[in-house]
This record gives sequence, C-alpha cells and structure tokens, in this order.
Amino acid sequence: MQRQMPKTFFIRTYGCQMNELDTEIMVGQLTQKGLKQVFDEKQADMMLFNTCSIRDLAERKVMGKIGQISRRTKNRPIIGVTGCMAMAKKETLFRKLPHVDFVLGTNNITDLSNVLDEVIHLGQKSIRTTDQFEENLDYLVAKRGDKIKAHVSIIRGCDKFCTYCVVPYTRGQEVSRPLEDIKEEVRMLADQGYKEITLLGQNVNSYGKDQPEWKTLFHDLLYHLDAIDGIERIRFLTSHPIDITEELMHAIATLPSLCEFVHFPIQAGSSRVLKKMHRIYTKEQYFEKVELLKKIVPNVSLGTDIIVGFPTETEEEFCETLDVFKQIRYSVAFLYTYSPRKGTPAMRWKDDISDEVKNDRLHRLMDLHSSIAAEHRQKLLNTSIEVLVERQNKDGYLCGRTRCWKKVIFKGPASLIGTLQNVHLHSCNHETLVGGLHLSN
Ligand code: SF4
Repeated sequence: MQRQMPKTFFIRTYGCQMNELDTEIMVGQLTQKGLKQVFDEKQADMMLFNTCSIRDLAERKVMGKIGQISRRTKNRPIIGVTGCMAMAKKETLFRKLPHVDFVLGTNNITDLSNVLDEVIHLGQKSIRTTDQFEENLDYLVAKRGDKIKAHVSIIRGCDKFCTYCVVPYTRGQEVSRPLEDIKEEVRMLADQGYKEITLLGQNVNSYGKDQPEWKTLFHDLLYHLDAIDGIERIRFLTSHPIDITEELMHAIATLPSLCEFVHFPIQAGSSRVLKKMHRIYTKEQYFEKVELLKKIVPNVSLGTDIIVGFPTETEEEFCETLDVFKQIRYSVAFLYTYSPRKGTPAMRWKDDISDEVKNDRLHRLMDLHSSIAAEHRQKLLNTSIEVLVERQNKDGYLCGRTRCWKKVIFKGPASLIGTLQNVHLHSCNHETLVGGLHLSN
C-alpha cells in the first residue's frame, strides 16, 4: 500500500537514558526532514516506539499499545518500532503486530530517513537490525528538550555478558566514540549554555578498551572534558565495578566538574550469586574497591542496582544483600525482581523463586533503602549545599539537584534557572530537601 509522507510524528520512549538520547537524535533527524513533533498522539501521522527489552513488562506495554493503535479503522498512523525490542524480536514483530511498518535496531538509527522513504515510496515494510553499530551516526543533530542538562554518548554496546541481561545481544559489542567527536559535542553544548553533562554508555568505564591505539581510557577522557569551559558538572552512567580503576577514582577526586557520585552496581550481595550472574567480581573484591574509593574520594556518594530473586538465590544469600546495603549505605538504588529474558543464559535455568518470595525480598530491600535515604537527607539538614537550578515548579519553587543527586527545592526568582546556587537546607518534604538561598549568594 502506498502511504503519504507523514507531516507529524509522536515518539514514545521506554527504558534507559541511552534510549532517551537515541530518541533525541531521531527527533532531530525527523525535524531536519521537515516533520513536526507532536505530543498528542491523535495528531500524529507517524508513531515511533523506542523500546526497551530489559523487563518483560516494558515489552508487554509496547505490544499492548501498538495493538490498540492497530485497531483504529480510520487515520491509522505509520508505526515504527525502534530500540532494544526491535533488535530482540526483529522480523517476528511484523508477524505479531501486522500493522507495524518498520523496525529499526539500536545500531541503525542513522537509517531512519531511508527506512521511512522505503515505507512511503516503495509501499513496503522495512527492517534494519544489524549487530554492529554504524559509526557514522550524527549525534550533533540531537534535539534536546532540556536546556541545562544533556546526555552525551561515549560508548555503545557491552562485552560483559551478565547471564541475566539482553543488552550485549540487543546493542552489540562495545564501540567507543572518538575523543574528538565527544569533545566537539561537549564544546557545542557548553556554547549553547548547558551546565551539566552525563556521559552515557552501557559500561562507560570500558571506554577506549576496544581502541587500544587511541591510548585514551575513560579517566583520560574525563580530564579532556573537564578542561572545556562552561560545563560545571560531569556525571557518568553506567559503570561496571570491575572497570572502576584507581585512576578513575583520582580523576573524581581531582577534577572540579566531576560529581562525587558514583553508580557502583553490585546486583547481589552473595559471591555465589554474583558468579552465577557472571558479574566477574566477588563480594570481597567489590568491598575492596569501595573502600579504596572512599579513601580517595572521602565525600563520595554511591548508587547501585540490585536484582532480587535470581534463580537459586536462598534466603541467607538475600540477607547478604541486605547486609551489603546496610554496610555501604547507598544513597541511590534501583531495585528489581528478577525476570527471565529470552536469549540470555539465565533463561535456561528454572525461575525457581516464587513471585511472592521475590516481592517480599524486594519490599524488605526497599524499606531498608528508604530508611537509609531518609538518614542521608537528615544529615544534610542545617548545612549549605551547591544546587544546579533546573526549573520552577507549579508552586513557584525552584528545583534542582546537588552534586550527589539529591533533589532540592527553594524559593527564588526564575532568573536563577541554569545557575549554581548555595542553598541552606532546613527541612524535608518526602524525598525532597527544602531550603532557602544562602545569604552569601
Ligand atoms: S554490564 Fe550491564 S549492560 Fe553489560 S551485560 Fe552486564 S548488566 Fe548488561
């Protein structure tokens, strides 16, 4: 069937920050092609679903949504599926969802325009899902919603092959982005007034290992980026504990723009479970690194990801996870119950922990996390802290974050948006710290 070139598009993003950045790039590409982004799906001639395969629930949501749109008898938009689900399901998506017009994998975003042309001019379904990342992706085209904080991709893919994770299969092997390209993008962002960048990758601290001839590893990259004027804060996501090096710790301690917050995902507290997860470190090795990091960066805050109910995890092993949490006192934690993912080694094992037990473990861990996070906030009361002001909320409060990722609100003029302010904290409102402008500002 011959289709009309769409004039408007709606894009829905699921999953991680990598997907958010890919969405910004696709929005930029489509805008350059003359299409207009709309935020009401009923006005869209084309709908894109930039999907995630990490959780079964995320996939089911997308399938349900596309099924719903497919049932429209009038004005059915062009439907495209991009992201990890496109990579994981490939052609089978056309079978399961016959109204999908194109499928574009995580490594093929560069081809969005060509794929759309094929759908329109040739009147056929189109698919691109190559395993290898196409390095000619134009990152500079990204159209960002935020004017203060930006994501910057530095490496794509992952070579670690944790047994529960689909990412190495959906995003392929690690490919670092050339240093000069990253510097050019960060300089451009600084010129546009951005104050904070978050360097993104499935495993940012593997940066440069796939390109030994560059002689530039992750900590080297940080020194280059810190030297760019105008960027006040640099963060990075996600790291693998095995690649958190002493050099990286010294960079965090030394470089003014590097925030003292490290996402240090342990995933489980038992060395036996870690081995089964193929995390390639033991609990003891993890603790050694954390101790070294705390010695080199004494004011560091730590974040983590934890999966509970991994196949064969016993109650005692889960208690080890609770114990690790109590000892390390993470300030930020992303906590999940295990769910098997097709195509992963763990899929071969019996998912032998009942949902009831998984949920019970998750809630115990969440309760512990909430009480520790509340303690962290209490400790900050009656101190002054640097806040990057991001926006004003509907009640007139300015909202921002500390270097260690704590949410802060305070009263002040909108002209302070985009600036760093010293805020005196006096109370908490749920998970948000409340303060007032410090008098010496
Ligand atoms: S390091 Fe992260 S992205 Fe890579 S396989 Fe493990 S969990 Fe997945």
